[in-house]
Amino acid sequence: MSEYNNKDLAAFKDVWVFCEQRQGNLMPTDFELISEARRLADELGCKLYGLLLGGEGIGAKAKELAGFGADGIIVCEHPLLETYTTDGYTKVIVDTVKERKPEVVLFGATNIGRDLGPRCAARLHTGLCADCTHLDVDVPGYQQFLRGASTLDEARIGGLDTALVMGQKHDVSHDLKMTRPAFGGHLMATIICPRFRPAMATVRPGVMKKAPFDEAKANAAEIIKENVVLAESDFETKVLSVEKAAKKLVDLVGAEYIVSVGRGIAKDVDLGIKLGQQLADELHGVLGGSRVVIDSGWLSADHQVGQTGKTVHPKVYVALGISGAIQHKAGMQDSEMIIAVNTNPSAPMFEIADYGIVGDLFKVTPMLIEAIREIKANK
Ligand SMILES: Cc1cc2nc3c(=O)[nH]c(=O)nc-3n(C[C@H](O)[C@H](O)[C@H](O)COP(=O)(O)OP(=O)(O)OC[C@H]3O[C@@H](n4cnc5c(N)ncnc54)[C@H](O)[C@@H]3O)c2cc1C
Repeated sequence: MSEYNNKDLAAFKDVWVFCEQRQGNLMPTDFELISEARRLADELGCKLYGLLLGGEGIGAKAKELAGFGADGIIVCEHPLLETYTTDGYTKVIVDTVKERKPEVVLFGATNIGRDLGPRCAARLHTGLCADCTHLDVDVPGYQQFLRGASTLDEARIGGLDTALVMGQKHDVSHDLKMTRPAFGGHLMATIICPRFRPAMATVRPGVMKKAPFDEAKANAAEIIKENVVLAESDFETKVLSVEKAAKKLVDLVGAEYIVSVGRGIAKDVDLGIKLGQQLADELHGVLGGSRVVIDSGWLSADHQVGQTGKTVHPKVYVALGISGAIQHKAGMQDSEMIIAVNTNPSAPMFEIADYGIVGDLFKVTPMLIEAIREIKANK
């Protein structure tokens, strides 16, 4: 292994995405992150690699990943990597980073990514920004993002091509700018890792848009088989079996149609949820909820949409009795079409709705269900 010095910034190049698999199946965040990281690699003028760990045969999934924009996939195959373990995955990733020295490493902020990313960062003695919702390298692009997403004035934005690092003015044009909600979502913070490499981040699932699959890119990708050194003695823990939770969780992130209910159902919670579910079923979609609905125990946490819940971009998002607080909008405002039902004509949800119905959800929802049934019957 060549000498490893995490302060020798010039020795590090390329962007990596840790590609999570469970029982040999790739995760949706892999495709989102590869798609987004393509832009970052282009801005840095370097290559993009997926890092895929798994048991024997996992390399067969490499081309599928590359089709979303990677120049290559680094495959680490080993029987001891078949099932995720913190010990095994951390060791192999740290070894591979030390060997190949990427400049940026991204993980999905999934349960596995949140466990693995910080541990790798600590072992590599570098920085990690958790739960990012936006990433940039290019300074003009970052400044343009701030113009739309922040309340900073032009003079302040203009000055953000540099940052004060250890008392010195530092040019940020080559740093990954990692933006995430801070202080309970009341502020957005942008964080850089100017003194160490690689810069590491976990990225919220569902936030980055997946690029279309490109067969030519998939076929052109370089597949690198890494020599994995791993033994039973590297493990503090042993996985005896993997038991899937009996309860099926709601897949909000992958849903094309979502009907969400808010506090507006309060006067008859059971009926409100039943109507929301019926409308979702008619659309072949799923039921979501605002945080109030989750905190009140009316729906389980996997239904929550918003800043502290799931970020979604379905084809259609129906908001029943949801006011449209900024933290709720943060999770659904990129939906292709938004339909809002609310008794209050001034509800902020109407500001972003494509179709707004001012009315009582207990009257309007049965009418929507009926209308859809009629359309189906006439087809
Ligand atoms: C740090 C932080 C993180 C947060 N994260 C999230 C998050 O992830 N997701 C989230 O949703 N919230 C989140 N919140 C909470 C958020 O600020 C709001 O409190 C919440 O979204 C409000 O939920 P709501 O719209 O259901 O309720 P309300 O704001 O109370 O709105 C209820 C709406 O229902 C309408 N209504 C009442 N009766 C009817 C009826 N019969 N028919 C039609 N309309 C009716 C009312 O006019 C009103 O507009 C967060 C807050 C903080 C501080």
